[in-house]
Amino acid sequence: SGKWAKAMAILKEFENKCGTPIAKLRQVADAMTVEMHAGLASEGGSKLKMIISYVDNLPTGDEQGLFYALDLGGTNFRVLRVQLGGKEKGVASQEFEEVSIPPHLMIGSSEALFDFIAAALAKFVATEGEGSHRYPGRQRELGFTFSFPVRQTSVSSGTLIKWTKGFSIEDAVGEDVVGQLTKAMEKIDLDMRVTALVNDTIGTLAGGRYYNPDVIAAVILGTGTNAAYVERAQAIPKWHGPLPKSGEMVINMEWGNFRSSHLPLTEHDQALDTESLNPGEQIFEKIISGMYLGEIVRRVLLKMAEEASFFGDNVPPHLRVPFILRTPDMSAMHHDTSSDLKVVGNKLRDILEIPNTTLKMRKVVVELCDIVATRGARLSAAGIVGILKKLGRDSAREGAEQQKSVIALDGGLFEHYSEFSSCMERTLKELLGEEIAQNIVIEHSNDGSGIGAALLAASHSQFL
Ligand code: ADP
Ligand code: MG
Repeated sequence: SGKWAKAMAILKEFENKCGTPIAKLRQVADAMTVEMHAGLASEGGSKLKMIISYVDNLPTGDEQGLFYALDLGGTNFRVLRVQLGGKEKGVASQEFEEVSIPPHLMIGSSEALFDFIAAALAKFVATEGEGSHRYPGRQRELGFTFSFPVRQTSVSSGTLIKWTKGFSIEDAVGEDVVGQLTKAMEKIDLDMRVTALVNDTIGTLAGGRYYNPDVIAAVILGTGTNAAYVERAQAIPKWHGPLPKSGEMVINMEWGNFRSSHLPLTEHDQALDTESLNPGEQIFEKIISGMYLGEIVRRVLLKMAEEASFFGDNVPPHLRVPFILRTPDMSAMHHDTSSDLKVVGNKLRDILEIPNTTLKMRKVVVELCDIVATRGARLSAAGIVGILKKLGRDSAREGAEQQKSVIALDGGLFEHYSEFSSCMERTLKELLGEEIAQNIVIEHSNDGSGIGAALLAASHSQFL
């Protein structure tokens, strides 16, 4: 019928606008490299903040003692305790607890959020066993993974530049994150010192490096997306401090804020951005990360319902609810292998209250999921190639022994959305070519970020 044709036309138009042919991906990778240079050259020189982390030494394996970590950066936060046993014993033991953040605290006051976090931390500390190897009389030390853009002022302090990923607490912006956490801990007599303030990318990089010396970068694909990598200190014009002994400095790219005229953006991305908590910002993140993929699918389905009666004469009311279709649900539909696409049918019925969908309609929904996920995955691969280009590791060096480059990947999107992660890895090979791709390894660093923060707390201990 005419309506079906109209719906298909909407889908095809969207697909065309989302296109990521190899030539376009190369332009995106090149633009990423260019922006990296600009962000390193001067403060504010690029949309890429290229934040100097003050981490100039990554874990070596010698770290010892009992350390805590706190991971805040999305919908959950986690508290961790690790026992580090040096080269011999490595991570001798680790315990963690996950706490979800009540939504009202994500948009409330800074004090309420940090009080909540300190209370959860205190509760966890209280479970410290008798046998835990803690030096009596020594203050406990904590690595704080805070995955929002922070202007670092030292390895253990920094001010919040802005919130992302659905957080919006105005009075915290511009404030020292560690100062606020410390104040909240003092209020409840929790004797703990923050010795490292990092974000999840740096934590993942540190955790990855602990196990594998070839790790040179880390990428997070979770609620948001970001990357960090190891740069030569001399290649950072905006760094005026003393050159670190290692000659290296970890850079937190904040690549979620990348944007380029080469990015394939659609009307739906524009609308999502305009209606978001942070319009004009985090454009790369808004087409790649877990917070947004399901929402993009919803928006396209809504257009098909409104303009082509895709779900019948009436537009299903639930389809109008922002963020009602979450990325894990999108991923479940995308991975549906049943012959009648039962999972798709159930999700449409349960979440969007659209009963009685035909197999033909369900197939279209899967196709739409594929378009959105493919664009995100391929752009992520282009971003990684941008980093490799910056480091001169994207091409063969005449005569030089090929070094391995390992990139530590983490985040729920990468971990659970296998259509996404396999597409990303395929695209990376496609972009690099067979020969170079052999030396580039994507390593899933399962929860490296928490361990990594504890490792950095250890290597920056006040008692060293
Ligand atoms: P965060 O990024 O909040 O620190 P995670 O790394 O655990 O936390 O990532 C959680 C995000 O991963 C969710 O917001 C969601 O977008 C995505 N995710 C989780 N499970 C799945 C899944 N099964 N399929 C696709 N995406 C998922
Ligand atoms: Mg995380």
